[in-house]
Order: sequence, then structure tokens, then C-alpha cells
Amino acid sequence: MSNFFHTKIEFLKGVGPQRAELLQKELNIYTYGDLIQHYPFRYLDRTQFYKIAEMDESLPYVQVKGTIKGKELLGEGRKQRLAARLIDETGEMELVWFKGVKWMEKSVKNHTEYIVFGKPTEFNGKFSMAHPELEELSEVKQTNAFLQPVYHTTEKLKAHRIESKTIMKMMEMLIKVAAPNIHETLSPELIDHYRLMNKRDALINIHFPESVEKYNAAKFRLKFEELFYIQLRLLRQKTVRRADLAGQVFKQVPTVTEFYKNHMTFDLTGAQKRVIKEIHKDLTAGKQMNRLLQGDVGSGKTIVAFITMLIAADNGAQSVLMAPTEILADQHYVGLKAFADRLGINIGKLTGSTKTKDRKELHEQLRSGEMKMIVGTHALLEDVVQFQNLGLCIVDEQHRFGVEQRSKLWRKNPRVIPHVLVMTATPIPRTLAMTLYGDLDVSVIDEMPAGRKEIVTVHRFDSHRLRVFQFVRDQIKLGRQVYIVYPLIEESEGMDYKDLTDGYESIRRAFPEYQVSMVHGKLKPQDKDYEMQRFVKNETQIMVATTVIEVGVNVPNASVMIIESAERFGLSQLHQLRGRVGRGAEQSYCILMTGYKLSKDSKTRLETMVRTNNGFEIADIDLKLRGPGDLMGTQQSGVLDLLIADLSKDAPILQEARAAAQRVLEADAQLEKPENQNIRRHIQSLSANTINWSRIS
Ligand code: ADP
Ligand code: MG
Repeated sequence: MSNFFHTKIEFLKGVGPQRAELLQKELNIYTYGDLIQHYPFRYLDRTQFYKIAEMDESLPYVQVKGTIKGKELLGEGRKQRLAARLIDETGEMELVWFKGVKWMEKSVKNHTEYIVFGKPTEFNGKFSMAHPELEELSEVKQTNAFLQPVYHTTEKLKAHRIESKTIMKMMEMLIKVAAPNIHETLSPELIDHYRLMNKRDALINIHFPESVEKYNAAKFRLKFEELFYIQLRLLRQKTVRRADLAGQVFKQVPTVTEFYKNHMTFDLTGAQKRVIKEIHKDLTAGKQMNRLLQGDVGSGKTIVAFITMLIAADNGAQSVLMAPTEILADQHYVGLKAFADRLGINIGKLTGSTKTKDRKELHEQLRSGEMKMIVGTHALLEDVVQFQNLGLCIVDEQHRFGVEQRSKLWRKNPRVIPHVLVMTATPIPRTLAMTLYGDLDVSVIDEMPAGRKEIVTVHRFDSHRLRVFQFVRDQIKLGRQVYIVYPLIEESEGMDYKDLTDGYESIRRAFPEYQVSMVHGKLKPQDKDYEMQRFVKNETQIMVATTVIEVGVNVPNASVMIIESAERFGLSQLHQLRGRVGRGAEQSYCILMTGYKLSKDSKTRLETMVRTNNGFEIADIDLKLRGPGDLMGTQQSGVLDLLIADLSKDAPILQEARAAAQRVLEADAQLEKPENQNIRRHIQSLSANTINWSRIS
């Protein structure tokens, strides 16, 4: 099939070089294969006809049969419009065009029967349709088309008269020539087992459904196939990695035992114990560990990281913990050093602001192996940073690092690739984790340390600010500290900065008796650090900040988090921010401040925050609200470049597809059996660098 679908789009009848160029630029459509996979994003119901008397504002696009009786050009110049009267036996309505007026005036025929398709709107008790589609009744073919596809286009395409309907025409043409060239891409066994529609019917019916049943079958088949090929690829990568990459074996645990016995100040939760067991199993298996550790804010990932590093140290290997920001690296360092000191283990910190002299010293100690553990930022990636034997890399908040940067770290041991533990505090919904990290093993800390009090979250309107301030005052009197966070959106940084400084000034005026810190992204690292430290030491009681405090910062005495313009934050971000409080023994509070005007999505976000503290539930809702592409910069990963499946809705299909891929590979890892030849051929027909295996090429 491959050659046919590689045909350049310009060769399709009715396209040509100019339109082809536009389709390439605007929609990434280069070939027949690309076009046929430009699936409709919705359908219009063209089965029902409405009477003019039935028109109603609440109706979506509807079709009406009627006769045009009179048309006239109104207005002048650019404001000129064309109005026509449409009449049926129940009444009359107006049809209006604001664009292409001259051309429409010529083509609309008076006293002629049409099928008119558009959205009815009411004005002064009369109904009208702007820019309706017109088809002369005498020319309407007796097609059995049931639902009319609607395709994505862009403003630029529309300006060049490539509308959804134009694409539909191209699609009709393409399907006609393509049909004989569409071959099955799944095995007969899978088709049979899952009762899937065949590929040809699926492609035809996804564009031009013959019935609702066929449309549903087509949609299921194509989603299944898309997810199946993604899972197949990820599972194969995983087996390749399993087989090929050796890892250091970390069998010794004397210091770990000593640490458990004499230095732990709390009992590990059941979840922490389970996760440490999973990690330990990996580290003794002789293969390289590739594990994702998920745990909500405050679930206690740091101690798990430390114990993992300790296992490495017990076996003569060095370990690295890399954090995305200086503040976070500092906090990790302080946390880990407290543990390491008790055991007399040499731990260091390397960030952008490490002084040259100290830097040289660190480099030396890492090279000689004298230093066992190092915490830091991107500074760790520099080539001069070399190790005697790097055995473990832990990356915190991994979504802030690119794949490229991570692999730089892995290469710092030329003999054996270090074990890898990726930690994230953003709980990733299972469906997403399965797809994104199908090649990683996943551990989850799904239990909070005992004695934690749930954070009380409330939503308050700006008009209640005085009462909120009184609450803040009461909390500070009790000895607590308070965060007040302002949004920062890059495009309008200037304005946000003003919001922040205005906020800072008003807070200072409102609380003259207390000290106020301010931290934002524009401060120099050392100034930021200075302010943070003042807050940590309780020299300041209120911290006014942008989201720079979002990740990791740990001030157990801070018990109130106020988020200004909370409607401007994403759900996961709100949850992350809330995680900055509730770290001590005291009852903590999160107050979401907004104005009265809120969108539906904003309301859902706020309600969700008030209702639950469960990070996984929040991540699921976030995924539904935003779609997966937005989460954690995953849009670059390619894995989520889905054509038809939707991870927020298709979890059940994903599970089936994964199980199917697993079964296929278990029975026939090399895809050599005759029944798997469709699958094998399909994979081969895909170019090596195509990320989405389900794409036809
Ligand atoms: P996060 O997963 O957000 O990185 P941390 O590792 O910073 O969480 O842990 C949050 C706090 O909980 C720290 O003060 C830590 O010492 C404490 N902690 C971690 N595990 C436990 C436990 N099992 N029992 C009690 N406190 C714990
Ligand atoms: Mg942490």
C-alpha cells in the first residue's frame, strides 16, 4: 500500500501545486496518506429537515428546504452585504452574506428551490442564517451520506477558499481512488478477536459514515489501531532495552541497614517500603534500571531517593540528584545532607552559582570517587563534571528536562549506563503514564505519611479580601507563615510584574507589623536565595511570590497559601502550589482568590481544588480539561501526537490495545509468524523516523 499513499497531494484531482503548498504549510498534509488521515473532528447531521417555523436559537446547524424569493445588495463598500429571502410553506427567513458578496449575488438564483444549511439566529423576532451553505434541490444527489464530515482548517486556508467543505470534496475524490489500495494493517486474529471493522471500511466510514453504527465501528477500529501500534513500539523498545543494557549490580547494603536501625527519625509508609523494594529488585537484577517514581507532593520521595543513593554508595558507586531549579537543588541538598551527615557520607552541591574555587574542588572529588553523592542543577551536565564511577542518576521533576539533557547525564559513565530513577510530583494519570512511559517501569507512592492533616481549601472572591487578610493576621499571630502567589504568564510579563509589585506594596501596607519577602523569576539567584532563606528562618512572615516557589520548596511552618487570580492557573499548578503548605503538624489552608467573572473551566478547576486533595484525581481532571498535549510539555514527545485516539477518553481502548500488543509479542516477538505479516509489513512500510506507527506511509 505504501507507494500509493506516498503520492504527493498535488497530484490529487482538484488540488494542484498551490493548494498543495498551503495544505503542507498549514496542516502538514504532504501525501495521500496524510490527507486520508486528516480525520473529521465532528459531523453535521444532514438527515433531518427543519421547517422555518421550527427555527430556534438553541438549534445547532440545521437544514431547511425552501425557495429563494428576492435578493438584494445592501450597504456600501466593505460593509456591503447580500440578503436573500427564503420561503417555505411555514414562513420566511433571511439569508445573509458578508464575504464574497459579489460572487454570491451572481450565483444565488432567484425563484429556485434550495437546501439551505446553517445556524439560525434570531433578531427582532425574525430568523436569519449568516453564510449558509446552499445546494440547489434539483442537483442534490441521492447519496446515502448520513453525517457530513467537518474538517479542521485554518484562517489562512479559509482565506484561500479551502474550507471544510473543500477538504470534504478532496476527500471524496481521494477515497474514490484510494479504496482499492487500502490493505489490512492488523492481523486476522486481532480483527477477529476484537470484532474490528476492516481497514478499508473504517477509512471510508470515518469520513463518510453510512450509518451511526458503521461510524462507531470505524472510530473504534482506528483508535484501537493507533494505540496498538504505539504500544507495540513501546513494548518492543522495552524488551530491546531489557535484553541489551547491562547495569551494575548493587548487592551490598551495610550502611542502608545501619541507617534504618539507628538514624531514621520516622517509620517509612507502606508505600515507601514497597517502592524501595521495587527499586532494590531492579538494582540487583544485573540490568539497567529505568524507573519512574510518582508521588504526590509531600508523599516522601526524598527519603526514597536518599536510600537509593545509599544503596549505590554501599556498592562503590556514585550518584547524582538533579533538580530543575537552584532553589530546589538547595532544598534537596539540605534534606539529603542531614541524612548523609549522620552516616559520615561525603555529599556535595553543584549549581550555577557555585564559586569557581569550590567547583574545582568538587570536580576533583567526583573524579577521584571521594565524593559519593552530588546534588545540583544543569551545572552537573557540563563536560568537565566527570565521575570515577557514576552508578545512579535521579532526576527530580523530570518534565523540566529535555531528553537530550538527560542522556548527557547517562553518558557520564562510559562503561555501564547508570541506573535511572525519574521522580515526579505531578501525578500522571495511568493512561498517560502507560503511553508516555510505556518503556519505563512505574512505581507509585500512593500513601501519605501518617498524621498529615488535610489542607483546607476554600474559594474566595476578591471582594472578601479584608476578611481573608484578617484570617492571615490571626494565623501569623499563632506563629505561622503565609505565601501569597501571583500568576506569571510569559507573554505579558511586564503586566504580571506590575501585579506582583502592586500586590507586594498593598500587602506591606496591610501588614505593617510584619516582614514581607518577595521572590520572582527576575531576581538574581543569590537575591532569590537570600529572600528564601529569610522566609525559611521565619525572619519574614509573608512571602509574596510568583510560581517560582511552585516546586519542592519546603517550609513546614508556612500554613497558609493564598493564590491570587487563581483562575489563571492550571489545575496541576494549583495543586503543586497548594503542596507548599501542609508540610508541618499544623492545620494548613489554601485560599483561592478570584473575581466574579469565571469561565466554566475555571469554575471546574476551583471546585475540584476545593473538593479534593488527591493528586491523581486532580491530574485526571486536568487531563480532561486540557487534553494531554498540554501536560508537562508532552507535546514534544511525539508519542501523544495522536490522530484519532484521545487519552483522556479512550483509556479502555488503550488498555485493550496494550494487552493485544503484549499478546502478539509474547507469541511472536519477531513478528515472523504468517498471521502477523500484516503487522510486520505495516511497520516496515513506516519510515524509521516516523514516530506514530499508526500513520499510513
Ligand atoms: P516530596 O514527595 O514532596 O518530595 P518530601 O520527601 O519532601 O516529599 O517529604 C515531605 C515531608 O515528609 C518531609 O519533611 C519528610 O521528612 C517527611 N516524611 C517523609 N516520609 C515520611 C514518613 N514516612 N513519616 C513521616 N514523615 C515523613
Ligand atoms: Mg520533593
